[in-house]
Amino acid sequence: MDSPVWCAPISRAVVFGGTHGNEMAGVCLAKHWMKNPSEIQRQTFTTECCIANPLAVERCVRYIDQDLNRCFSMEILRSPAAPSDSYELKRARDIFHKYGSGDSAVDFALDLHNTTANMGVTYLLCRNNDLFSVHLVNYLQSKSGDLPLPFHCSLTDVPEKDLVYLHRIAKRSLCLEIGPQPHGVIRADILSAMREIVNHVLDFIDLFNQGKEFPGFEMDNYTFFSRVDFPRDSKGEVEAVIHSELQDKDFAPLKPGDPIFKTLDGKDILYEGEKILYPMFINEAAYYEKKVAFVLTEKVRCTFPALKLMH
Ligand SMILES: [Zn+2]
Repeated sequence: MDSPVWCAPISRAVVFGGTHGNEMAGVCLAKHWMKNPSEIQRQTFTTECCIANPLAVERCVRYIDQDLNRCFSMEILRSPAAPSDSYELKRARDIFHKYGSGDSAVDFALDLHNTTANMGVTYLLCRNNDLFSVHLVNYLQSKSGDLPLPFHCSLTDVPEKDLVYLHRIAKRSLCLEIGPQPHGVIRADILSAMREIVNHVLDFIDLFNQGKEFPGFEMDNYTFFSRVDFPRDSKGEVEAVIHSELQDKDFAPLKPGDPIFKTLDGKDILYEGEKILYPMFINEAAYYEKKVAFVLTEKVRCTFPALKLMH
């Protein structure tokens, strides 16, 4: 096993809800914690809570002009503001200045999302070198045994030019997806699972700050492979729907020859890939406009070194 990774303590953390204004568990919890912050305070660090896209939350829509969670490239964040900037570009710069840049940058960011896909609890990580957050996920998986939802980790080392997600503004970060939940709707089971996980996240940071060491471990990781669009006609109209045998099968193995779509005249369209992959975000409502029917991942067994506090 590799030598341990040493990380500086966390002194300031931020929890974002409402990055997408109609993903209601994060919206609801963020609103609650902004009024009643005691639940998210811990001894060794401060936690703030932020509604990332307040206008979209007010209107209960995903976004006003464009997807806020695709606005956090360094190129955008460092470019000068222009009168033609969208509402979300302005919000991205405001959020970056408040939480992501200079001496006041937060040490850790948690971004709360819901998905209409049957993904249970999915932890999305975007940097291989963020071993603090990988340990956090391992801790969360050890604590999530009582939740009535399956959990998975999807760590993909996203190249800098493609790092456009809100949670990248902090050096250590985690994006939490919980589903299935229709957008605009609050389900009590999803809300309480998210609430419990956020509390576990804050407990982990507190334990780490107090000097607890976390040993190395192995974990299954579902790393990004490709995106698959719906079959479309020459005008771009969707010609087939997600096959009933694929619906809700997020993170189940997809084998060559398995049905993935059904056309409206009843024909099965089969997966023609060469190896077994693991789909996620199957039939996510917000991805129709992105031309994504589901996302394919590869399942990889990964080994991670121990984590220790750097004093
Ligand atoms: Zn979202």
